[in-house]
Amino acid sequence: MTCYLATQVDSKFVGGLRDTPAACRYDERMIEKLYLAKPRGFCAGVVMAIEAVEDAATELSHEGDLAVYHAIVHNNTVVERLEDTRNVHFVEALSELDGLRKRAAQDKRQLADTVVFSAHGVSPAVRQEANRLGLATIDATCPLVTKVHTEAKKYAKEGYHILLIGDSTKHQEVIGTRGEAPEATTVVSVIGNRKHDPELADPHTVTVPNAEKVVVLTQTTLSVDDTMKTIAILKERFPKLVIPPRDDLCYATKNRQDAVRNIAPHVDMFLVVTSDYSSNGMRLLELAEDLCGNAKRVESVDDIDESWLEHATNVGVTSAASTPDDLVQAIVNFFKTRNPKLNVVEEGEWEDITFRKPKRIPATAS
Ligand code: SF4
Repeated sequence: MTCYLATQVDSKFVGGLRDTPAACRYDERMIEKLYLAKPRGFCAGVVMAIEAVEDAATELSHEGDLAVYHAIVHNNTVVERLEDTRNVHFVEALSELDGLRKRAAQDKRQLADTVVFSAHGVSPAVRQEANRLGLATIDATCPLVTKVHTEAKKYAKEGYHILLIGDSTKHQEVIGTRGEAPEATTVVSVIGNRKHDPELADPHTVTVPNAEKVVVLTQTTLSVDDTMKTIAILKERFPKLVIPPRDDLCYATKNRQDAVRNIAPHVDMFLVVTSDYSSNGMRLLELAEDLCGNAKRVESVDDIDESWLEHATNVGVTSAASTPDDLVQAIVNFFKTRNPKLNVVEEGEWEDITFRKPKRIPATAS
């Protein structure tokens, strides 16, 4: 590893070669190359969902503040920006809306009679409750999640038992998909799952009512490798297992994992910009750690601990499908400030996919 002797000048570092790597301290050396994963950051589903909230908050501002069921996407910065700049309120249950309305009235504000459903999707029970409460709805569920809901409904109707591979029974997407056919669904842990959830079934021991009629569906944002291993175990245990022709892992999950694989051989540490409740982001962190042995999660540049960089020359950076790219650019600037000659490598392709914005659907009389 190359080590640089540097002199601090106006908070910047300049330097020349030094021949004793063991004597390196971070403030005596610089990162030479920054590899930016491409693609990274926002996917089409996240763009659509955030725009749906921003547009609704503007269009309905004369009616009052906007309520969103669950974090619109799993990123703290996105949620905080919408709360702070658009008067958006996030709830985990529609029963919270009453209290929200009362608090708004105390502040001489009001709440619009509309609720937005997050990109992760909701169960039919939540839709019915929104209707019962007389709420108009804007469904910002990603179409690729809706596809899995459609499969769950179809197979349950045909009498199949559904093995839904996921990383947590508490994940909003899993709750929504299972809600389509709760009696006919068992949530099975993905192999390699690092979350502890006693409600998840083990793929090695899970049982089904009828091994002749069983289908496997998956959460969209899991590790590609671990999902394939889990399906292989289930297929061995249930030879008649139906595997839908197109798997449920979404393009954004696969592409971001591929981009990490491409960069990993070139870097000695990885920064993954993600909130800890982003499933796809945490899978990127695990993959980066597995491949390069030194990966750290950050919400933003402020979380970087310079001691992490002591033995690094080349750093990889990626971000979850729900992470705004300005957070990554702030990290690029962090390294550029320390090394004006920083070589930023960004190879790969951006995605060219867009999803249609959802319409506002009024409540129907029941
Ligand atoms: S990560 Fe995949 S499933 Fe989730 S919103 Fe993006 S495209 Fe849709």
